[in-house]
Amino acid sequence: MKVYIETYGCQMNEYDSELVKAVLKDQNLSFTTSLAKADIVLINTCSVRENANRKIYARVHEVRHLKKDQSFYIGILGCMVTNLGKELFDLPVDFLAGPDSYRRLPAMINESIAMQSTILDDKLSKQETYQNIYPLRQKGVNAWISVMRGCNNFCSFCVVPYTRGRERSKSLMDIYNECQRLADEGFRQVTLLGQNVNSYHHEGNDFAALLDKVSEIDGIKRIRFVSPHPKDFPGSLIDIVAQNDKICNHIHLPLQAGNDRILGLMRRTYTQKQYLELVQRIKEAIPDITLTTDIIVGFPTETAAECKDTKNVLEKVRFDSSFIFKYSERPGTLAAKKYPDDIAEEEKTRRIVSLNELQKEISLQKNQSHIGKVHDVLLEKKSTKKSTQDYQGRNDGNKVVIISKGPYQIGDFLRVKIEDASAHTLMGTVIAPQS
Ligand code: SF4
Repeated sequence: MKVYIETYGCQMNEYDSELVKAVLKDQNLSFTTSLAKADIVLINTCSVRENANRKIYARVHEVRHLKKDQSFYIGILGCMVTNLGKELFDLPVDFLAGPDSYRRLPAMINESIAMQSTILDDKLSKQETYQNIYPLRQKGVNAWISVMRGCNNFCSFCVVPYTRGRERSKSLMDIYNECQRLADEGFRQVTLLGQNVNSYHHEGNDFAALLDKVSEIDGIKRIRFVSPHPKDFPGSLIDIVAQNDKICNHIHLPLQAGNDRILGLMRRTYTQKQYLELVQRIKEAIPDITLTTDIIVGFPTETAAECKDTKNVLEKVRFDSSFIFKYSERPGTLAAKKYPDDIAEEEKTRRIVSLNELQKEISLQKNQSHIGKVHDVLLEKKSTKKSTQDYQGRNDGNKVVIISKGPYQIGDFLRVKIEDASAHTLMGTVIAPQS
């Protein structure tokens, strides 16, 4: 049977889809990138905002319609399963497997085919890290690696602790061996993943120890990580990012809001002052750090003045870029239980537009400050969205760098002189392949 997988949401879901492929390949299932040719359609879902759910409902009906003359099976995977469980029985699907149930997927598919009924497994596990399963990855430059799963923080707006369960970390040697194998397969960069990656902890090894260990691997030239929480940023972690050349000088540090009352209602465990002090420590240790963040506007009861505090933090920190979202009430979260979603949609829109305008100005100024500088760029693609005459790579700060087509290969490190910049992209000329 041919399996087609569609993935929505975060990098962790990208990783999980590669993991699911490995589990199914073991059962002699093969894969297709053509929906029309698929006997089994898997949709790996995200549940972080309401419109993510709506998108999946529409997609399932669309697939059923597109393949109405074929006999095939549809399976829903991921966070929507653990978030909604039996509610999804309304959908015309055959099986539903949550993020901790992928080892059981082959059995669930067989059961669903044999019983001609919908099979659900939305159990969360306190142990499951899919140890010893080596994901089936696309060839490329970067490999995602999940080093821990789940989250214990229970930020009041977030469904992740309910959809992905309690934190558990993989063993340091399991991750090291996986990275070694990736290096042998030609991957030059690894991105270590976790809902709360810097709370990684296994048999006395913390996240800084893990980064140090992975950096010992010859073939791995760049190490990135996402998403850390500001509360788990000890000096040792800042030091290793500062001192170890392989660990990229880019930190994605979700702020979410700039006002202390709102940060308290969000249960973010830090104040604006503490967040700014952490940013100061990071900037002192790593002056050329690229900092990015996540922001939520319109959290229940947030006043315009309190949103202004968020704007002030954007002005003070001057992030290279920010992902700014409107508050989306998530059923089952503490915020949904305690605080009515009382900020009008138009007001949320007014706030998000105003913050994005400011951020765009700052991003442009930050990127323009790179004009004239020389960066080491890891080539990722031999085309860009706009042109096949341009190649695309990323600098150490994870910024997209566009260069003109040339005698270079994906995976090459190139020394590029930056000649122009937009708010989202740097443009430059190759002055030499990296030594
Ligand atoms: S730390 Fe991140 S994943 Fe965990 S509850 Fe908070 S927002 Fe959600």
